[in-house]
Amino acid sequence: MSTKRDYYEILGVDKGASESEIKKAYRKMAMKYHPDRNKGDKEAEKKFKEASEAYEVLKDSDKRARYDQFGHQGVNGNGGFGGGAGVDFDNMGFEDIFSRFGDIFGSGFFGEEAFGGGGRRGRSRSRKEPGQPGSDMKIRMPLTLEEIAFGAEKKLKIKKQIKCDECNGTGAETNSDFETCGTCNGMGEVRQVTRTMLGQMVNVQACPNCAGEGRIIKSKCKKCSGEGRVKGEETIKVNIPSGVSNGNYITLRGQGNAGRRGGSAGALIVLIEEKEHEHFDRDGNNIYYNLTLSVPDAILGTEVQVPTLKGKAKLKIDPGTQPGKMLRMRGRGIKGLNNSGDGDQYVRLNVYIPEELTDKQKEAVKSFKDEDNFDPSNLDGSEKNFFSKMKDMFG
Ligand SMILES: [Zn+2]
Ligand SMILES: [Zn+2]
Repeated sequence: MSTKRDYYEILGVDKGASESEIKKAYRKMAMKYHPDRNKGDKEAEKKFKEASEAYEVLKDSDKRARYDQFGHQGVNGNGGFGGGAGVDFDNMGFEDIFSRFGDIFGSGFFGEEAFGGGGRRGRSRSRKEPGQPGSDMKIRMPLTLEEIAFGAEKKLKIKKQIKCDECNGTGAETNSDFETCGTCNGMGEVRQVTRTMLGQMVNVQACPNCAGEGRIIKSKCKKCSGEGRVKGEETIKVNIPSGVSNGNYITLRGQGNAGRRGGSAGALIVLIEEKEHEHFDRDGNNIYYNLTLSVPDAILGTEVQVPTLKGKAKLKIDPGTQPGKMLRMRGRGIKGLNNSGDGDQYVRLNVYIPEELTDKQKEAVKSFKDEDNFDPSNLDGSEKNFFSKMKDMFG
């Protein structure tokens, strides 16, 4: 589905690369394709951003695990499957990318010179976002094998903290019911400068007066008592890609609990659970079905109906079918995740031997007993040779 290149390939490392190998590889790429060394070179710019995106994912063990498991689909942004890198490198400036990965460029690796004299500028200090972020939520999602096989759109009704519609999440009765916190002058943090023998020490703390919000509500919203959120229920649609398995999870950012007083909402983490199927066992993208034949059907051959993930299908049983034989129904398994290929359905054949026979049936079976082609030793190569030799001798 994705035309994106493999992240490991982009950085030129193998899949088992250590964190420091990945870091080193990225540093090398970033040096090579750095805009100051490739002025106006669009291709270099593209390479630089591509490498940055790969590094964003591979440096984070959680994202890397998802990428390993699901590929790009596991880490694409905007609430996609897996919850993602969520960073749009294509539309990002170099400065932003550098401040993002400042840790690896910080130790004088790129000197002032490398940046054309401008130096690496930190991200400018912005006023703190209002409120406090909401917490993440986890929810289990049981799925049938059919839903897993072909993907599904599920609706979830969940109880959670939702934004108060009365105050639009601000927690104040009207929009003008705020005043800038006098203690921190709206910065949300306070600095304490102390002089010590080792020099000047600056201690930065969240402002105790406004709890770091930078502003104070003069009159609180009555519906939410100034919290900006209330208990509620919401129906959420979740797209389940085909081929997921037990323990996989889908992260829906912004769908968890609403933040306090306009803070950003948490994530909703949907944990996949595979329900047991009445007919099938699963192994990766393949499914297995046990079919027991009668003795005459195994001997004479027949056509049977077997269940598949998409209803019943006809299956031909050849004459002379042995118990334990496995038939493959190509493409009847699970549609692989990320178009990783479709699985097959396997049918394991067994033969049912009746435990009790009527006298008439016994006679009929006995009449085959001495027939040569009913002799199981004919199956085994050495035995067969032995018997054919005997036959040759006495025949
Ligand atoms: Zn409210
Ligand atoms: Zn304050």
